[in-house]
This record gives sequence, structure tokens and C-alpha cells, in this order.
Amino acid sequence: CVFVVPEFPGLGHSGGGSTLLGYIGIDTIIEQMRKKTMKAGFDFNIMIVGHSGLGKSTLVNTLFKSQVSRWSSGWGSEHKIPKTVEIKAVSHVIEEGGVKMKLTVIDTPGFGDQINNENCWDPISKYINEQYEKFLKEEVNIARKKRIPDTRVHCCLYFISPTGHSLRQLDIEFMKHLSRVVNIIPVIAKSDTMTLDEKNEFKHRVRKELETHGIEYYPQNEFDDDMEDKNENDKIRETMPFAVVGSDKEFQVNGKRVLGRKTAWGVVEVENPNHCEFALLRDFLIRSHLQDLKEVTHNIHYETYRARRLNDNGGLHPISANNTQESNL
Ligand code: GDP
Ligand code: MG
Repeated sequence: CVFVVPEFPGLGHSGGGSTLLGYIGIDTIIEQMRKKTMKAGFDFNIMIVGHSGLGKSTLVNTLFKSQVSRWSSGWGSEHKIPKTVEIKAVSHVIEEGGVKMKLTVIDTPGFGDQINNENCWDPISKYINEQYEKFLKEEVNIARKKRIPDTRVHCCLYFISPTGHSLRQLDIEFMKHLSRVVNIIPVIAKSDTMTLDEKNEFKHRVRKELETHGIEYYPQNEFDDDMEDKNENDKIRETMPFAVVGSDKEFQVNGKRVLGRKTAWGVVEVENPNHCEFALLRDFLIRSHLQDLKEVTHNIHYETYRARRLNDNGGLHPISANNTQESNL
């Protein structure tokens, strides 16, 4: 049934002046949107940052598991550490339940591996801004595409070393420089190397340090839409950064095959919430916040870039399509 809610102030809201009418079909918009989304599919671009050997490739493979085994051959095979930070983007189309996702994983080999890591976030920040610039150029084109290919980084997983001590200067510098430009999700890598107490204490300390340095990671407080959002995100923020474990090996545990890591005292199960927080991260990243990550990227980070860029441009002249000038951001 249809409830007509008068929109006049003072007349009260739902209930008050509602009239009961026949069915119109407004609610079918959801099904219409679903069909369109199914047909179009969507892009999701995730960047992984952290020094080599922290399990970045393994974790992303674990996150997108069934589909990943196909591409594992090309991955994790970088044995040499590059002399400078490289940016490597690899795309795959993953389909589940009829929905197609074009997943691009942007790896940053060489980050944090040098003797002097000063400004090693520069190539990363440059890459992120270049994707905003690309999108902006497409947007201001007179004959713009119906659907602009989205290469913008929706999420940056930042891997913290499981030292049990504190964050490194580089961790702080990186997150400080980039948290205003991209959605950063810090995670504690290889958490199976810490005891439960060490892990909890480390998590607590990392949260404190991030707070002290004024680092706003995703989901940022200021972008909570409403109270419901805030309550949900508060719970997530209180458990962050997730202490994760990745693996591409399966083991038999209680008659079931599970992904895990074999240790002297048993198998650490990747998806078991009593063993690590991989499942929490997966649910958060993919099952509850994927759309929001894309929206915050578009509405906040890209918008900031766009406003600044158009302002620098005098706010009048459109950026010419072949203008290759870099932004000062
Ligand atoms: P990347 O250089 O950060 O991409 O790291 P890789 O994913 O290539 O992993 C480096 C090594 O660490 C490999 O031998 C992995 O098997 C191992 N590794 C990956 N994830 C974990 C983890 O969660 N715990 C432990 N203990 N080892 C891991
Ligand atoms: Mg790797």
C-alpha cells in the first residue's frame, strides 16, 4: 500500500496525514537498479602498501580466494626488491551470483625496503592523483563517455609490521600524507606471529599512536552519514586495525577443508574469528563497506581534488583534454 506523507512543516510526519491508496510500484526501483548494476558490473581498485615480505600478495589472494588461484602464478614471484617504489596494477574480472566485478590490485613493491625511505610515498601519491586527473579529464570532456572507466584507488590496505612495539616513522609519515587523499585501512600483518596478549596490546598502542598523530583512517568519523552509520562504524573503529593472517594453503580441520597456516601447535585458521581477524576484515571490506569505499572516494577524495584543480584553473576554463599538466597536490 502507499502512504502519502504530506511534506508541509507542522503537519506531522508519517502517520499524521497519511492516506491509504492503491499500489503504485515505487519500490520496484530497487529491482530496476539491481538489474542495471548486474548488467554494468562495477570497478573496485585496491592498493596494497607495506614493506616486502609482510604477506600483502598472500592476503589479497586470500581475500578473493576462489578466483585468485588462477592468477597466483604471476604473483608473489617478485624475488628482487626494486631500487625504487614501483606501481604495478593488475586487473581481473571476478563474477559471483551474476555480478561482475573488475578488480584491480595495485601493488607497490619497493615501498619501505630502501635504506633511506624518505618520501617513498611520493610515487604512490602521484599515482593516486593521476587517477583522479584521468577521471576529471574524462568528466570535463564535451563528449564525455556514458560511463567513465574508474581507475581511482578506492581503498589502500596499509600493512603494519607485527613488531609488538610501535609504529615505525615511515608508517606514520605515509598515513599522515595519504589519509586525506585516499581511504586507508591499516592492518596488522602476519598476526599469527604474536601471542594473543601481544596482539591486543599492540592493537591498542597502534590505535593510540594513530590518534596522537591525528591520522584519520577509513571509516573516517566525519563521514558517518547518520547515527546508525556512526554506531556501526564506531564498533569497527574500536577493533581496528584488524590483525590478519593470510594463506593459500588448505588443511583438514574437523573434517572440513580450511585455509590456514600450519604451526608446531596446530593450524591457524584464516577464517576462524578466534584465531585472527581476517574474516572481520573481509566482511568489512567486501560485504558491508565496498560501496561506501567507492562513494567516499568519489564524494570526498575525488571531490576535494576536483575542486582544488578547477580552482587552480581559475574556475572558468575547462581543462583541455590534452593538457598533461600535473596538479600540485
Ligand atoms: P609480500 O612481499 O608482502 O607480498 O609478501 P608475500 O605475500 O609474498 O609473503 C611473504 C612470505 O610470508 C611468504 O613466505 C608467505 O607464505 C608468508 N606469509 C604470508 N602471509 C603470512 C601470514 O599471515 N603469517 C605468516 N606467518 N606468514 C605469512
Ligand atoms: Mg608481494
